Amino acid sequence: MRGRQILRASMVASVAFVWGIESSSAPAKRPNILFIMSDDHACNAIGAYGSKLISTPRIDRLADEGAILRENFCANSICSPSRASILTGLHSHLNGVTHNGARWDGSQTTYSRLLADAGYQTALIGKWHQKPHTPDREVDHWDVLIGHGGQGSYHDPHFATRAGEVEEKGYCTDLIADKALRWLTEARDPNRPFLLMAQFKAPHVPRRPPARHFKRPPIAQLTVPETFSDDYRGRAPYAAKAWMKVWNGRPATAKSFPNPASVADRAAWADLGAEERAWKAYEDQRNADFHRRLAAGEFADHKAYALYLYRRRLQDYLGCVAAVDENVGRLVDGLEKAGLAADTAVVYCSDQSYFIGEHGWVEKRWMYEEAMRMPFVIRWPGRIKPKTRIAALTQNIDFAPTFLDMAGINAPASMQGRSLLPLLTGERVTGWRDCLYYHYYHHGAHNVPRHDGVRTQRYKLIHFYTDDVHELFDLQKDPHELASVYGVKEHAQVQSDMLNRLAEQRRLFGVPDSVFKHPYVHLSRPERVELRKRKR
Ligand code: CA
Repeated sequence: MRGRQILRASMVASVAFVWGIESSSAPAKRPNILFIMSDDHACNAIGAYGSKLISTPRIDRLADEGAILRENFCANSICSPSRASILTGLHSHLNGVTHNGARWDGSQTTYSRLLADAGYQTALIGKWHQKPHTPDREVDHWDVLIGHGGQGSYHDPHFATRAGEVEEKGYCTDLIADKALRWLTEARDPNRPFLLMAQFKAPHVPRRPPARHFKRPPIAQLTVPETFSDDYRGRAPYAAKAWMKVWNGRPATAKSFPNPASVADRAAWADLGAEERAWKAYEDQRNADFHRRLAAGEFADHKAYALYLYRRRLQDYLGCVAAVDENVGRLVDGLEKAGLAADTAVVYCSDQSYFIGEHGWVEKRWMYEEAMRMPFVIRWPGRIKPKTRIAALTQNIDFAPTFLDMAGINAPASMQGRSLLPLLTGERVTGWRDCLYYHYYHHGAHNVPRHDGVRTQRYKLIHFYTDDVHELFDLQKDPHELASVYGVKEHAQVQSDMLNRLAEQRRLFGVPDSVFKHPYVHLSRPERVELRKRKR
C-alpha cells in the first residue's frame, strides 16, 4: 500500500533504532506480560493522574513502582476500534475496525499472535468485543464475555470458551480476576513466558458497582468539574448538539423486578445471583426516593436535577472503578504470591479515557482531551525505574510494537506505532514524534459527526469534514478547549501550520481519500448559514 510505503520512508531514520534491529534494549530473559485493561476508565478517575474524586491505590502503586504515560492518547475513542489498534499497531482505516460493530479481520497480524509464534503462552480473559466474538486466532486460551453485543453483563455474566458457553454467578470484575488468577496459577505451563490479557468490562455503561461499593464515594465528595455547565458557545455547533449529557434521561418509575403477581418473575428472581438482587433492590429504592422528591418539586430547577443525576451516575461509575482497582490489586498480589512479580511487566490501561461530567457529558468519541486521552501505567522491575514519568506524545498504536520489543521481537514494518521501550527505560531518544493523528468514524452515534485531526504538545486542530468545519485550540492557554481560535487573525500562522500537519499526517498514515467521501452532512441548511456568518 502506498500509505505504508510513505510511512516507512518518512520514518526510516528511527525504524532501525525503535523497531529493535539495532536495539540494545532487548532483555536477556523474556518477560511475562500481564496486560490489564478496563473499559472507559477516565484519567480523571485515577489517583496517579490527579483525580479529585477517587483514590486508586493499587493502580497508583504500579505507576509509583514503574512508569506513567502522561500524554498518552487513543487513535479513535471508542471500544472496539481502540482494542483493534492496540492489537495491530495500526490506525482504524488499516485494521478495518472503524466503529463498534465493524467486522474484525482475524487474519491480520496481532502482537499477541507474534508473541505466541515466538513461544509465549497467550490468554485473553474478559471483554474482547470484536466481531466475530471469539479470539480463536489471536490467543491460545480465551474466556470472554458474550451477550449484549459482546459487552457482557455486570451480574451473572455469560462467558464463552473453546469448550462452550457458561453463565457464572457473581460480579463481572471479580469473576474476570478470578479466572485470570486461576489461569495464572493452575493452567499455564510454568516453563514458558506468558502474555495474559485481563480485560474488565467496568466501568462502562450501565455502570453497576458491586454491593460493597454502593454509595461510595459519598455524594458530598463528588465535586463538579469546572466545565460542567459549558454553554458550548466557543466552538462549532456540534458540541452543543451532542446527545451525551449527564442529566439526560429519567430514573424508572416502575420497580425493576420482579412483579409479585407473576409466578414466572418469582422463579426468575430466585435464579438471580446475590449481587444482582442487591443491585435491583438498591435501584428500586433510589428510584422511589427520586420520584418522591420529584413530586415534591425538589427538581423543578434544572440545576438541581442535573446535579442529582451527575452525582448519582458518578457514584455508580466510581463504585465500578473502586472494584477495578481492588481487582488490579488481587492480580498483582497473585503474581507476587506465585513468585512471578520480578519477571513480569504489569500494564494497567483503559481502552480510552472518558468524560465524567466535563462539558456536562458522560461519553467518549470526541477528539477533545477527556475522550482522546488514555491512561497507561506499567511496572517492570529491573527494567523501568520507579517513578518514571513520560511526557512524550504516545498513542495506542504504540503498544503492539512496545510489547514485541520487550520480548526481543522485531515488530513488522507494517505496524504504524513505535516501541515505547526506549522512552520507558530512559534511553536518550531523538526524533520522537511531535504530532498525533486521530480519526473518529462512527458518524451520528450520540449525534457526534465524523472528524479527524492532529494534536501537538500545544495545539489541536479538528476537522469536521462532513461539513468542512474546523476547530483550533491553543491547549496551553485554553486547556479545557472552550474557545476555538480557528479563523482568528492572530493565529493565522499556527492555523496554516496545523492544516499542513493534518495533510502530512494523513499522508504519513496512508488515510485513503475515500474515507472523506460519503453522503453524510451533519448540519442543517440554516445552521450552515449561521456558521458562515460567524466565521471571522
Ligand atoms: Ca471503551
